[in-house]
Amino acid sequence: MKRFKTVYLYRDSDFPERGWIHPCFLCLAPTGNLVHYKTEERTEYSKKKINNSNNLTSFTNIKNLLVPKKVRYEYIVYMCRCCNKKIPTTPELKLKFTSRCERYIRSIHR
Ligand SMILES: [Zn+2]
Repeated sequence: MKRFKTVYLYRDSDFPERGWIHPCFLCLAPTGNLVHYKTEERTEYSKKKINNSNNLTSFTNIKNLLVPKKVRYEYIVYMCRCCNKKIPTTPELKLKFTSRCERYIRSIHR
C-alpha cells in the first residue's frame, strides 16, 4: 500500500509550530497562505519486525530486514500572497524560492 506524507515548509520562528500562521518562506511576513511546491515519490526503508532476534549476527541479516516502501511526499510551502504573485514574473525570486525549498527538503531526508 502506498503511503502519503505532507510536509510543510516554513521558516523557524516564535510562532506555535502547530498554528496556522508562519513566516513567509521568502520575505518572513506572517502568513497563513499555503502554496503547493511539488509532489514526489521516494523509496523509504522500514525495519521489519522479527521474532528471532538472536539471528542478528551479520550485516547481511540486518540489511535483509529493511523493507522498501514507496512514499508519496507532498510539499506545501507557507508563502504570502505577495511573494506568490511575484514569483512567476521574477526569475531571481523563483530561483531563490526553488533553491530554498530544495535545501529544506534535503535537510528533511538526510
Ligand atoms: Zn512573502
